[in-house]
Amino acid sequence: MKSIPVIKTKELTKYYGKVIGIENINLEVRRKEIFGFLGPNGAGKTTFIRTILGLIQPTSGIIMLFGEKDRNKLEIKKKIGYLPESFSMYEDLKIKEMLDFIQKFFYENYEKNNNKKEDLIERFNINPSNKIRTCSKGTLQKIGIVQSFMHNPELLILDEPTIGLDPLMQEEFYKLVLEENKKGKTIFLSSHNLNEVEKICTRVGIVKNGRLIVMENIPSLKTKKVKKVEITFASLEDINKLMLEDVYNLSIDKNKLSFVFKGEIDILIKKIVPYQLIDFSCNDPTLEELFLEYYKGER
Ligand code: ATP
Repeated sequence: MKSIPVIKTKELTKYYGKVIGIENINLEVRRKEIFGFLGPNGAGKTTFIRTILGLIQPTSGIIMLFGEKDRNKLEIKKKIGYLPESFSMYEDLKIKEMLDFIQKFFYENYEKNNNKKEDLIERFNINPSNKIRTCSKGTLQKIGIVQSFMHNPELLILDEPTIGLDPLMQEEFYKLVLEENKKGKTIFLSSHNLNEVEKICTRVGIVKNGRLIVMENIPSLKTKKVKKVEITFASLEDINKLMLEDVYNLSIDKNKLSFVFKGEIDILIKKIVPYQLIDFSCNDPTLEELFLEYYKGER
C-alpha cells in the first residue's frame, strides 16, 4: 500500500502583489526521504517553506501535511522541526538559556530523558555559556540546527541549513541528516548548492522563478550532468581539425576552445589526446549554468 506523503501540495501559488513567489507547485515528499529543494536566490524556496508551514497564506492551492489539510493543528506542528532562513533570538541570554527556553516553550512533548540537545551542542562544538549577542553567524546557524533537531521531530524542514557553516561543520551536519534519516525521519531541505543536494538527498525538485521545473531521483540527475570544458591548444590549426560531438555553446578565443559538454567524458578525452595542449579544465557547472545550458534547452 502506498503510504501517505508527509508533504503534499497541489497547484500551490503565492503572489506578493504582482510578484510571483511560487506558482502552481505540485510536490510530494514521501516518508523517510531526504528531499532537496534546489534553486538559485529568489527562486521561491523560502516562500514555499513558509507557505506549507502556515507562516504565510497561499494565494491558492492545497497543502497537506501528514495527510491532513489543516496544517495548523498543534499535533502536526509538534511533529515538525523547522530551521528558518534567519531568525531572531534574545541577545542577552546565554546559548543554553535560549535553547532551554525554546525547549520549554515549544516542546511540551520533549522526552524527559532525551539528551539530544546536550549531544548536539557538543557535536557542533558550541559553548553553551556564551551569550547569543556574541555569536558569529555560523554559531547562530548551529544553534538553529540544534533547536530544529532537539525534540526528535518526524519531519525536518530546513531552509538553507548549511549557510554560514565552515566545511567541518557542514560535514557534521550532513552526517546528522543521514543518521536521523536512518532512524526514520523525513527531511526536506532547501539549498542553492547542487553538490550538497547530490551528496545527501535521495530526490530533488528544482525550482526556478517560482515554478518547479524538474523533479528527479538523484542518480538520474547525476547521469544528466553536464561539464564546462576549456581547452587551450598549442596550435589554432588543431582546433579546426577536431570533430567534437555533444558540444554546446562553443566559443573560440585565440587558441582556447570553451564549450558545454553533455556526452561521455572518456570519448572527449580520447579525441583530444593526439593534440598538443597548453591547458585543460573540466568543471561541474554551477546550478545557474545547469539551468541555462541544460534544462532550458531540454524543455
Ligand atoms: P533566497 O535563497 O534568496 O532566500 P528563495 O529561493 O528562498 O531565495 P524567496 O525568498 O521565496 O526565494 O523569493 C521568491 C520571490 O518572491 C522573489 O522574487 C522575492 O523577491 C519575492 N518575495 C519574497 N518575499 C517577498 C515579500 N515579502 N514581498 C514581496 N516579494 C517577496
